[in-house]
Amino acid sequence: MGRTLLLKNADILVTMDDERREIENGGLFAEDGMLTQVGPTEELPKTADKVIDATGQIVLPGFVNTHHHLNQTLTRNLPAAQNNNLFPWLQAHYRIWAKTHPEASRNSALVGLAELVLSGCTTVFDHSYLFQSGNKVDYQIEAARDLGVRFHASRGSMSLGESKGGLPPDDCVEEEDDILRDSIRVIDRYHDASPGSMTRIVVAPCSPFSVSEDLLRESARLARDKGVMLHTHLCETLDEERYTLERFGKRPVEWMEGLDWTGPDVWFAHAIHVDDEEIRLFAGTGCGAAHCPCSNMRLASGIAPVKKYMAAGVKVGLGVDGSASNDGSNMLGEVRQAMLLARLQLGLMPPEGPRKHALLPPSHPLRAGEWMTAREALELATRGGAAVLGRDDIGSLETGKCADFFTLDLNTLQFAGGLHDPVAAVVFCCPQGASTTVVNGKVVVDDGQIVTMEMGKVVTDHNRMSLELAAGH
Ligand SMILES: [Zn+2]
Repeated sequence: MGRTLLLKNADILVTMDDERREIENGGLFAEDGMLTQVGPTEELPKTADKVIDATGQIVLPGFVNTHHHLNQTLTRNLPAAQNNNLFPWLQAHYRIWAKTHPEASRNSALVGLAELVLSGCTTVFDHSYLFQSGNKVDYQIEAARDLGVRFHASRGSMSLGESKGGLPPDDCVEEEDDILRDSIRVIDRYHDASPGSMTRIVVAPCSPFSVSEDLLRESARLARDKGVMLHTHLCETLDEERYTLERFGKRPVEWMEGLDWTGPDVWFAHAIHVDDEEIRLFAGTGCGAAHCPCSNMRLASGIAPVKKYMAAGVKVGLGVDGSASNDGSNMLGEVRQAMLLARLQLGLMPPEGPRKHALLPPSHPLRAGEWMTAREALELATRGGAAVLGRDDIGSLETGKCADFFTLDLNTLQFAGGLHDPVAAVVFCCPQGASTTVVNGKVVVDDGQIVTMEMGKVVTDHNRMSLELAAGH
């Protein structure tokens, strides 16, 4: 028998399995990072190499973050970018991000990943697309391995500078041959498609306004040749929609469809400005969406039609995005914002059409199915995210899946008075940190602290580098 782990005595264990079982006095047993039993504590083995007593705690499947830019932790809350929407916000950051050197790349990955595991996240997708100043995906992958997080890295790209009609400055983009060559190197070196994989690679050109049509086509061809997934930002702002309409005479989704960018191996970050036909296209082709509520509010981008996506059968996960547009990496917070924003959207734009006076309270009672529930928001962050990333081995706690989970202490100030329904309290009550986070059967957070690495120096170094990079901007 391999290395075993037993979690026992949880007040409630939320499985997110097909029956959505919530098991009282629940527990789980894992061997070599995979779950072999999930159920009531009395049915589980009595001991293991590692035993976690979850008395007084709730256990949930580890969250899956489907969109992030870890290097942006270096530029959180930049004064020049506090109060603007996407295009000027990007223009305030591009040249600083381009200075992300190897040490800054590793350090920012550690900061963002540590915040994520402390908020219950066990699988992270990162969308990196600036590889100047010696930066390579390798530094992020090493950081994720050292910390112990399941990591989907992207070899992203920007190739269309201002002189060719793109948004980024010319000195922030790469040659397309170099991009494709390095993408092949990274996939061949790191991509592990096997069940339980800790590292996967995604091909991820940045956005419609920063890469050429040729690179989008070639990226899709490469991803399919190698069997990896495809990702980009799409339908994030009306500026983007204007850009593709003016340049290509097409709305963003139609334009991407023509470049072979639809299918179950594709997911888009944001996917806010879509019409009903485009939602049907996503559902029909299997495209997923990474919903990033904090970022969308922060940049005044709009509200993604998440309930419509869910009703149509579109795969939806959550992403903290940023970190410069969030400006944090807290998945518990993102789950709560997803639920709240869907409700605000309902108030502003009920299913029967826009209200005449949008800010007046509804004049009719909303039907139950129109509300996003706490459990639906949790589902987006777990099963939803797993589906978006193309994984069937994470997102729920059941036999044969990865031992990725976290616990929250229910006897805290934040939950006091809210335990009529502890599962919903995770979303309704103000977010707190994970008590324990386990990834691949290994404890990464214990008693609310990262235990795989000493974080004090990481924070000191991060603050120093952040100020150095921003100096002169
Ligand atoms: Zn993004």
